[in-house]
Amino acid sequence: MEIDELLGFAKRAGFFWPAAEVYGGASGLFDYGHLGATLKRNFEGAWLRYFVTANGYHLIEGSNMLPEKPLIASGHASRFNDVVVGCSKCKTYYRADVLLNELKIKVSEGASAKELEEAIRSNGVKCQKCGGALMEPKDFNLMVDVALGPEKHEKGYLRPETAQSTYLNFFREFNLLRKKLPMGLAIIGRAYRNEISPRQGLYRMRELTQAELQIFFDPGGWEIDDRERLLDRKVNVVPYSSHEQRAMSGNEMIKELGMPKFYAFHMCMIDRFYMEAMRIPKEKLRFMELGGDEKAFYNKLHFDIQADIQSWGGFKEIGGLHYRGDHDLSSHTKGSGQDMSVDVNGRKVMPNVLELSFGVDRNIWMLVDLLYSKEGERSVLKLPYRIAPYSIAVLPLQKDDKIIEYASSLARELRSSFNLFYDESGSIGRRYARMDEAGTPLCITVDFETVGDNPAERDTVTIRDRDTKKQDRVKRAGLPAAIASALE
Ligand SMILES: [Zn+2]
Repeated sequence: MEIDELLGFAKRAGFFWPAAEVYGGASGLFDYGHLGATLKRNFEGAWLRYFVTANGYHLIEGSNMLPEKPLIASGHASRFNDVVVGCSKCKTYYRADVLLNELKIKVSEGASAKELEEAIRSNGVKCQKCGGALMEPKDFNLMVDVALGPEKHEKGYLRPETAQSTYLNFFREFNLLRKKLPMGLAIIGRAYRNEISPRQGLYRMRELTQAELQIFFDPGGWEIDDRERLLDRKVNVVPYSSHEQRAMSGNEMIKELGMPKFYAFHMCMIDRFYMEAMRIPKEKLRFMELGGDEKAFYNKLHFDIQADIQSWGGFKEIGGLHYRGDHDLSSHTKGSGQDMSVDVNGRKVMPNVLELSFGVDRNIWMLVDLLYSKEGERSVLKLPYRIAPYSIAVLPLQKDDKIIEYASSLARELRSSFNLFYDESGSIGRRYARMDEAGTPLCITVDFETVGDNPAERDTVTIRDRDTKKQDRVKRAGLPAAIASALE
């Protein structure tokens, strides 16, 4: 699917569209509609169960607004920059590295303003809109500032990433949670970035949702319990040393790449999440190692989680796995004066952090891109049954009083157990088509047999499966059990 086609589908079906659309939309800001909001919530729920609660970790919630000090300590105030370059004639602004990449001029991910200026000059790059000369590229801080108080004198920022909130709460939570390492704190929440020229739908947004898990561990050792033999799992990986994609098991990565066991283990865990819980085909996911100047200096190991997303032109980052050392807690120790080192069996240690970071909006876009398909006349979004916005739809076959009454009462009864959509508008074929596009796994249809006099068929309804289009007739009494088992 092309990008405009995907956006068109997302709007038409009810997933997402630009914010303030009636005013012409706003760059990098999106609203989620009734299908998208529930899909997003369900994705977050699946993420939370899989990565956080199943591993004995904990969910917290941090303030979206932060005072200036922690973001000075974390380095965001000075280093959370992109390089911007503007046209001297038409005042169009570009993110310099993105502009060069689009022109197929290779620059590294962390290139400085100076390096980018050289690349622009030596390649004779001009404004892509009007052909005008480009001004000198400059560092541009991406944080969104807020000014609070009656004189707006209390300077702060909207948080640029959720992670800072877990670092800021580490010390209190460590003491509350019985002073044990490893300890995992997760946040699902908003982050804000004043992106220079946000584009590509949900790829670069000015307000985005992150799902992040920071695991604090003893730098002296972290015993991994691999009773599920996750380390035998093969994942697609592109090591920085070779730049070549290979399928390697966790154990092979430990042996051949010298990767710490806990790191390989979590990479395999992420891979399994996408294959099993999200139903992403194996060849569509890979882990790309960043090295040298590309990765932040405090990351000891950094792999992007990438998915092959056609509408974004190939493999794109949807998350990351970062071994961050003790940079974060050390910085906040310095900045706040609160010593965040902890006592582990008589040793004083500054915990290290393993960060599992996911862009929720990018993941939603990926699911639509990868799981939407056209099968002859019909188009269908084959979402995993457990995260589909609606689990079932109840559809009266025709506008017949008896059928409608029966179907509405059935919908009322099932609503308490299942997320359900009731629809009586349009032909039955059209309604099935809309539910296929919404990704609804099961359609339950009430027809003349349901309300008829034949005792063999009275009180029976049909269940239609989204993927096979197969229809079964079931007794109303057995319906909740039949639905539950079909959804498993
Ligand atoms: Zn221009």
